Amino acid sequence: MKITIVYDNNAQEGLKCGWGFACLIQTGTNNILFDTGWDGHLLLENMEKLSIDPQNIDTLVLSHQHWDHIGGVTTFLNINPNVDVFVPSGFSPRLKKEITSRINKKLYGVSSPREICNWVYSTGELEKKGTGIKEQSLILECESGNYVLTGCAHPGLLLILEAASSFGKITGIIGGLHDSQEYGSFKDMQLIGAGHCTSHKDVIRKMYPDKFQKIFAGYKIEL
Ligand SMILES: [Zn+2]
Ligand SMILES: [Zn+2]
Repeated sequence: MKITIVYDNNAQEGLKCGWGFACLIQTGTNNILFDTGWDGHLLLENMEKLSIDPQNIDTLVLSHQHWDHIGGVTTFLNINPNVDVFVPSGFSPRLKKEITSRINKKLYGVSSPREICNWVYSTGELEKKGTGIKEQSLILECESGNYVLTGCAHPGLLLILEAASSFGKITGIIGGLHDSQEYGSFKDMQLIGAGHCTSHKDVIRKMYPDKFQKIFAGYKIEL
């Protein structure tokens, strides 16, 4: 399975950075866009430079309803409305209606853990008590193990990893890790790909120098 970060707070030379996150997952049978960043034009520009054709994407998954993850949705759907869209079922009904009106395929509200497509699963929508932020993360069943892909990780690592573990042992995590300080959760992992909103990158790097990987727009990995 191939993962390419297309939108992040940091970018490799030649690509643009911006506050937000978006990532392409290529399973061999499906091309999934996970989040869209904030600026749809920046998203498409980075895709073009990475030779990613937005028309080849068949599935759009949105982690949570924050501007830096869903801002690029309209621009993307104007280019490619032929996608199934998976959002946490707690998304605003108006937003769900707007998205439905712009796609030729189906919108799915995700509440509990489920399959998105072959080898890709959602944790279901999770919420850290009292925050009101409902977020889903993905589990990628790869040849080298199961990897968790997060948008902002607002529900907290413990909750996310507990839900993700129901699909099997977790080999690594990639994405925004917010202000998570549950550093012990990374102990048995082989890859900690931290980007976007991760507050404590330096602490994680110091604790796990061999597993830590800073991610950025343009970062690619085959798992
Ligand atoms: Zn967020
Ligand atoms: Zn974010």
